[in-house]
Amino acid sequence: MKTESEMNTGVGVETPRLWNAMHRFNPDALQTVAAKGEGAWFTDEAGNKYLDGVSGLWCLNLGHGQQEIVDAAAEQMKNLSYFPLTMSHQPAIKLASKISELLGADYQTFFSNSGSEANETAFKIVRQYHNQTGNPGKFKFISRYRAYHGSTLGALSATAQANRRVKYDPGIPGFLHVYPPYSYRSIFGGDPEESDLKAAQLVEEMINWEGEETVAAFIMEPFISGGGVIIPSMKYIQRIAEICKRYNVLLIMDEVVSGYGRTGEMFGFKHAEGVQPDIVTMAKGLTSGYLPLGATAVKSDIYEAFKEAGKDNHFRHVSTYGGHPAACAVALKNIEIIERENIVERVRELGKTKLGKLHDLINHENVGEVRQVGFLLGLEMVTDKDSKRPLDDAKMNEIVGACKARGLIIGRNGDTVPGQNNVIIVAPPLTSTEEDLDFLVETVDSVIRNI
Ligand code: PMP
Repeated sequence: MKTESEMNTGVGVETPRLWNAMHRFNPDALQTVAAKGEGAWFTDEAGNKYLDGVSGLWCLNLGHGQQEIVDAAAEQMKNLSYFPLTMSHQPAIKLASKISELLGADYQTFFSNSGSEANETAFKIVRQYHNQTGNPGKFKFISRYRAYHGSTLGALSATAQANRRVKYDPGIPGFLHVYPPYSYRSIFGGDPEESDLKAAQLVEEMINWEGEETVAAFIMEPFISGGGVIIPSMKYIQRIAEICKRYNVLLIMDEVVSGYGRTGEMFGFKHAEGVQPDIVTMAKGLTSGYLPLGATAVKSDIYEAFKEAGKDNHFRHVSTYGGHPAACAVALKNIEIIERENIVERVRELGKTKLGKLHDLINHENVGEVRQVGFLLGLEMVTDKDSKRPLDDAKMNEIVGACKARGLIIGRNGDTVPGQNNVIIVAPPLTSTEEDLDFLVETVDSVIRNI
């Protein structure tokens, strides 16, 4: 079977000065150059058609060509092409209220442009909050190994994936990492729930060992996505929330991937009953990728520490483009469509009846585990079920390449941990038709059965 780069030959073009597009594994490979998108599909310049089984970078939640979103952006740009949020405008005011309503408690939102910035903003808010509420020693952040929280230095310091960090370390002081709730390769033993609760216990141990007076916040995705679709027991999330509360450690929920319907709830944390994070960060699905927008929603009781009149305690943080009027108008329309079209219920239903068919692959010798929540699915690939040895990079590339040759783009946790980049990731647009999902399932199934 051909490698991914060989598959690309002849259907792509050279992109010599475009650094972003340099092929990750083979700089000489020709590139796919997209020309047009339609629903869950795109066509490249050579006329090949692909189903985008990873929604771009897990962001194209409503698929291409939502005319209402395009119109909302155009209309807003005509009326007010740009305006800074050192003052304000209606799209941002309305969106902040809508986010608070969706989160189910009173939140204030600070807008930026991306998931990385949303997390950077959260880290600065957390440090300043503890500083001006009598706990200046609380500066440390805890995140989990395998988590991805962004590319900028603070967010990268919270990102605990060795392959993404080694050439940029040391990160920012004060970022600690802890074992994730990864029951498939548990170091604890026991059933998945017991294993996950022990992973939560490690967090409490870490807070105690570090000194609770030094720990500022814990940041987590409800479901580790880019790090290999790791889905914990909901009791893990509930236990983490309890521990955070006990030690005045703020809980930052990174909903950059899981927000806005992807998991079959509007937000991933809603799967864990009773959990209400102190801070929720979001981007991607907030606008379905139509325009860049990041958001950091902060519980109002935390916000109180920043607004006492006459005190020099405001948040010294400005984002020129953050909360751009057109991006906020797009987000409002995006949310309106998600609600009107019952997208969350759709994901829950078709996640079971269509995408869920990929669970049948568990019978295959090379499939160690199938993990799924809504339209987020991971296949952990191994050489054999007993040893659980991760399938090697060449074979993983073969699978991704063979799907592409058949017109399906899928992902994998390409740069996570040395020797453990063995999870196939599927996360199609939430508006994919039933036929699209059938094609996706059939293609992945047949490619894996033929490796
Ligand atoms: N958090 C998570 C969970 C992500 O997956 C990502 C991006 N893949 C980010 C943060 C960073 O988002 P961005 O690329 O928009 O900076």
